[in-house]
Amino acid sequence: MRQLKRILIVGGGSAGWMTAALLAHLFQGLYEITLVESEQIGTIGVGEATIPAIKKYNELLGLDENEFMCRTQGSFKLGIQFVDWWRRGESYIHGFGVIGQDLGWLRCHQYWLKMRAAGKASDFSAYSINTAAALANKFMRADPKLAESPIGHIAHAFHFDAGLYAQFLRGHAEARGVRRREGKVAGVALRADGFVESVTMEDGEVIAADLFVDCSGFRGLVIEEALKTGYEDWTHWLPCDRAMAVPCARTEPFTPYTRATARASGWQWRIPLQHRTGNGHVYASRFIDDAEAEAQLLANLDGAQLAEPNRIRFTTGKRRKTWNRNCVAIGLAAGFMEPLESTSLYLIQSAIIRMVRLLPDAGFDPATIAEFNRQTDFEYERVRDFIILHYKATERDDTPFWRHCRDMEIPGTLRRKIDLFAANGRVFREDDELFTEESWIQVFLGQGVIPRNYDPLVDIRSDVQVAQFLGNIENVIGKCVAVMPGHADYVAKTCPAT
Ligand code: FAD
Repeated sequence: MRQLKRILIVGGGSAGWMTAALLAHLFQGLYEITLVESEQIGTIGVGEATIPAIKKYNELLGLDENEFMCRTQGSFKLGIQFVDWWRRGESYIHGFGVIGQDLGWLRCHQYWLKMRAAGKASDFSAYSINTAAALANKFMRADPKLAESPIGHIAHAFHFDAGLYAQFLRGHAEARGVRRREGKVAGVALRADGFVESVTMEDGEVIAADLFVDCSGFRGLVIEEALKTGYEDWTHWLPCDRAMAVPCARTEPFTPYTRATARASGWQWRIPLQHRTGNGHVYASRFIDDAEAEAQLLANLDGAQLAEPNRIRFTTGKRRKTWNRNCVAIGLAAGFMEPLESTSLYLIQSAIIRMVRLLPDAGFDPATIAEFNRQTDFEYERVRDFIILHYKATERDDTPFWRHCRDMEIPGTLRRKIDLFAANGRVFREDDELFTEESWIQVFLGQGVIPRNYDPLVDIRSDVQVAQFLGNIENVIGKCVAVMPGHADYVAKTCPAT
């Protein structure tokens, strides 16, 4: 068997350094790893909100969570608040983690649906420790010793400064032998069989490798410009194609959640960090021009503007193959979906782990490559459907953009999920798709997809039993939230930025 020897990572944004750090850590010197990046080109400079899976990535690297938070101006995240998505004036939180607890065969929301119809249930947010704590601006990490209590089940992610995170990971990677080469790649050379042979730097140096990891951002320097892999455009389902990001001064309260507020032709994010708040407007250029998008963004900052807006254009979709010949594309080079559910850094982490699990030898077996692409397609398509749901399930008809979203065709895979939930509140996680049943349930309900009926098995219990079951959950969660520390205090005590 001929083994790989040299791995070249092209690009040093979050994708490049996340890849370099994890490969160096896992491979322990087995391969020669080089990363090329260009300070002159720079990085995209956004990407600050995450989902809980990032903890696994940090754990794999052996990072200390408090040190990571200190070094990246981090804050904790319990979920995402969606404002004005279903209807103007309505909001809900998609909280991470479990909701209440199961009873018998059924999830908690089935009992809630029955009591809600009878006017005897509280708002659904009262049954999730993450959501109830978020609304009270409280935070603590789960206490594993309290497995019987909701406090044992708090699920958290982070907001952080993406530039500082990449720097942090760079230190980690370089300490484990990754060689960084500064400079612009000017060309990519292919072998006669179409595989990539080397890249040529602007100063003429030729860097050859066996495996190329394309982390060069939207342009896809190797996967697209050299290998002409092709791109699947999903703009007909997710019409936003531009973003504008701008930081503002930190304001109180220091919320432990991301906020996504629907605007006339897109939506605006708000991400609280220790030293500032990140903001951005994601919008559809077919429905609003840049000047009006900028005006809407700047009119809706809750602190003093700290910099000029960073303008970004994108096409939602993915490469037809994210692994083509001896090139694996990771990060924006692989594809992009808007940051509504903070999935991009997760997709990077997941691609790196998938690549490690399907690590090729120098023969690049086609079945291995096909399996990588199959798993990637499945993951992207399920995330895509989840994001589309936020747009499709809306009653908003106040602008052409929202009317378009409400009336647009959607993928059959999503149509099936909506129809199933709308009947009896059922949802099934397919294989290892990213979003859990709890995630789908919260977004369905938050977007106004209220099932016509509940699961018939609910009626095994009497109304008194059901009311008692829900009442207990609400009561216990209320008591837990009351004793949790405030988010700002918790951060100041455990991981203040250095
Ligand atoms: P980039 O950051 O663009 O890095 C590309 C690298 O390639 C750079 O180092 C560049 O110098 C190098 N390069 C390019 N060409 C050459 C060349 N010729 N020679 C040498 N080097 C070269 N993700 C989340 O998880 N959460 C979020 O909240 C979030 N928000 C986002 C908001 C917006 C508006 C956008 C567009 C994205 C967001 N993302 C988010 C996604 C996230 O920003 C990216 O997935 C992440 O930053 C990875 O980017 P990257 O490393 O692939 O690309």
